[in-house]
Amino acid sequence: MDIAVFSTKPYDRQFLEEANQQAGHRLVFFEPRLTQQTCPLADGFPAVCAFVNDELDAGVLLTLWKHGTRLIAMRCAGFNNVDLRSAGQLGLTITRVPAYSPRAVAEHTVGLILALARKLHKAYNRVREGNFALDGLLGFELNGHTAGVIGTGKIGAIAAQILAGFDCRLLAHDVAENPALQSIGGRYVTLDELFAQSDLITLHCPLVPQTFHLINDEALAKMKQGVMLINTSRGKLIDTEAVVRALKSGKIGSLGLDVYEEEADLFFEDLSNRVIQDDVFARMLTFPNVIITGHQAFFTHRALQAIAEETLANVTAFEQGQAPLGTITAAMVKRP
Ligand code: NAD
Repeated sequence: MDIAVFSTKPYDRQFLEEANQQAGHRLVFFEPRLTQQTCPLADGFPAVCAFVNDELDAGVLLTLWKHGTRLIAMRCAGFNNVDLRSAGQLGLTITRVPAYSPRAVAEHTVGLILALARKLHKAYNRVREGNFALDGLLGFELNGHTAGVIGTGKIGAIAAQILAGFDCRLLAHDVAENPALQSIGGRYVTLDELFAQSDLITLHCPLVPQTFHLINDEALAKMKQGVMLINTSRGKLIDTEAVVRALKSGKIGSLGLDVYEEEADLFFEDLSNRVIQDDVFARMLTFPNVIITGHQAFFTHRALQAIAEETLANVTAFEQGQAPLGTITAAMVKRP
């Protein structure tokens, strides 16, 4: 099948081409993000392969459909950028890769937690400059601290399991309880209890209307002074301006982000020779107790291989008239 691949980076091309030696599709790679302006590039392609910051709103889906596209194969797990209702009305099939490597994201999450707890980001720079002083690097041990995990699906449950290995006390909140979490000593509590009791809070729920700005001024007011906040899920779970206020007041003691609500204008590009125009993001970079990575939690060899293979397997199944395993419809999305 002919597939127009958007938001292509060299690593996407490498892993998709390797996987395609088995799958045998015709891949055409486009560097731009998929937007209303760029969707004419996909004219005549029955399949489009898209990524996390591509725009798949009603207008883009209609244009793609009018020009012959019948399948959108997302090469990611999240699908908050796809208007599933419009896709359903048009008869467009949407597929994704639900679980390419939840471990990759969970391990990155714990990496951020450890780096913040022991100030590794500051230590790294100091030692390179010949500064071996320890002042300002005083950290804390994870054991005995309370970790609050919001969203205990595939990634959240593994993050919780790793944190249990550090002897953290585990609190969890989810709209559906996961017995795997309870079996390692996790206790489900209300969101308010989790906010009030956790020393570190990590977000692993999807971005849906109910979770938009889940972390806002009101939520932050309920948290412990000096709480550590981690988000490797989706940027819009956090009201970033509220978080900046909480960093300034000391309410948030440390912040680790792999996602940002306005990341589409920044992430995945080398902007090192440009002036960052986003003042909220630039302000966050000034805090000594903030670590930001640019949506790289998924970025491991194993995950990229699995993403490429499963994305193309979804296309093959569609081409053969079978229901692709990664098919997602509006009706399948849990509305808590
Ligand atoms: P999952 O579907 O296995 O788990 C999500 C969990 O969140 C489920 O248990 C669900 O019941 C729960 N949930 C839904 N609504 C909720 C609510 N209102 N409050 C609390 N919990 C709620 O998904 P996953 O594979 O664990 O992925 C979690 C998120 O991680 C994805 O939505 C995606 O946005 C993000 N992600 C990020 C990266 C990255 O590179 N940073 C990579 C993959 C996934």
